[in-house]
Amino acid sequence: MRNLFLAISAMFLASSVTPLFGWGCEGHQMVALLARIHMTPVASNAVDHLLRENPVEVSDRFCKGGGDLMADIASWADAVRNAEKTGLWHYIDIPLEAHSGELSQWCEPASEPEDKTKDRPGCVTSAITYLGAILADTSKPAATRARALRYLIHFIGDMHQPLHTTDNNDHGGNCTTMQVFSDERASNLHSIWDSRLIARTLADRKMTPAQYATVIDAKYAASFKTIAAGNQTEWAWDGHTAAEKYTYGLLKPAIPVEKYDAKADCNAEREKVAALKIKIDDPYFSGAMPVIDAQLAKGGYRLASYLNQILTQ
Ligand SMILES: [Zn+2]
Repeated sequence: MRNLFLAISAMFLASSVTPLFGWGCEGHQMVALLARIHMTPVASNAVDHLLRENPVEVSDRFCKGGGDLMADIASWADAVRNAEKTGLWHYIDIPLEAHSGELSQWCEPASEPEDKTKDRPGCVTSAITYLGAILADTSKPAATRARALRYLIHFIGDMHQPLHTTDNNDHGGNCTTMQVFSDERASNLHSIWDSRLIARTLADRKMTPAQYATVIDAKYAASFKTIAAGNQTEWAWDGHTAAEKYTYGLLKPAIPVEKYDAKADCNAEREKVAALKIKIDDPYFSGAMPVIDAQLAKGGYRLASYLNQILTQ
């Protein structure tokens, strides 16, 4: 969710009861649990030590994860985004029409200027670089490193939601409206990918996020090394490709690919998409869900690999 206006609009538009902030609770929990399976014992213990010694309050709204310390705080960054002015760190707006190029054209380096009233500059990829350096610096106070760790657990998850690395003048799908199954209210594509499709899967299978994470892991564990390779620039383009091929690509009728306009009007975009009368139906669900599984596995495995590199010294 990009800002307060969008948050309020989405609350009216969305039918789902799950929160609308990057992957919903369940998605972030699954990324954390998938990472946990593949972390070295040394990294895993270091993470638990930092989190246990530097606890934060996490309200039920931001979903405690059922006892795993990483899963418990995986949505903390959404709870503090307004207070900490870190909203820009959750995504990067790579235009849907783009297929290559330096990410720096859509993303400033992340930093935390003294003035705490202004948004922190940066985007999800530069924030990961910035926070990774803090976590790796053992001369920094433990509380500072624990904060960086909480953000990393969240942002490496976030950047695998394809609409956190893709924008079609619609704030990563937030400025869209479409019918979802037989829900009473319309929803937007961003919230559908954050939560709605995952919620339906969990309900259909009668599974908890922890149970479903083990189903995903059984499918992808043998490919851990291949999946975990690369860096956040490659991961961002990977998610962007998934958005183009599946998130947008499976929609019927298609939303036209727009010429990038940083000043596009959200309401006008929403009206344009509403006029298409798109319906998220069973064929869309069947095509999208394997991609969501793969993105959750990628998020978890890459988070594990990232933390293993920093914390297994
Ligand atoms: Zn987020």
